[in-house]
Amino acid sequence: MKKWISLFVWCAVSASVIWLVVDRLPPQHNPFTHIAIDHPIGFATGSKLARMSTDRQQCIDFLDESDIEYTRLDDGDPEEACGFRNAVTLDQSDFPYSATLSMSCPLTSGLAIWERQSLGPIAEEFFGEVPVEIRTFGSYSCRRIYGRQTGRYSEHATGNAVDIEGFLFADGRTITLLEHWDNGEEEGEFLQALRNDACQVFGTVLGPEYNDAHANHFHFDMSQTGICS
Ligand SMILES: [Zn+2]
Repeated sequence: MKKWISLFVWCAVSASVIWLVVDRLPPQHNPFTHIAIDHPIGFATGSKLARMSTDRQQCIDFLDESDIEYTRLDDGDPEEACGFRNAVTLDQSDFPYSATLSMSCPLTSGLAIWERQSLGPIAEEFFGEVPVEIRTFGSYSCRRIYGRQTGRYSEHATGNAVDIEGFLFADGRTITLLEHWDNGEEEGEFLQALRNDACQVFGTVLGPEYNDAHANHFHFDMSQTGICS
């Protein structure tokens, strides 16, 4: 009996200590706090965004609280490989895009956090200005991986992925993955810093280091593969 009481006390003390430590973590590292666009990117950002895929209202609340402008889209047929699930068209976030993006709500939320907490500050740090446009190859596309005739459908087929080609600045210059990723200069370092942050936001990040098919763009999606390349 004494042994069980000691074990109980030990467990209770350990749980209290763990809770005290977690409770003191800053919100970006604490998986139990509310997600907010003004929190820096941290260890818990990705897991909080991942939870939005099973909590539609939390995701929509996040967009509303973040002043993101969007239009909700009807769900497609769940029996079909292609179609939207819990998706929106992004009407306005911190940066304009070169094409209209219709994406899952969690991906839209992740992109908004990445814009605010990564793209903006890193562009300011490197160039003293922020881009005037994000160049994109788009989001929704009903196709299988790599456009093959057979095999698994891409995350693009449900609007759960977006491709980013590069960035346009006010003076007309563009920084693109194809031209600058590996140039050993500040443009390349800028793009690699963006990739590193993206890996803490999105469930999957594919870029030029992943394969030749991604030499000219970042692919961000919310499938939780943990690939960061
Ligand atoms: Zn893609």
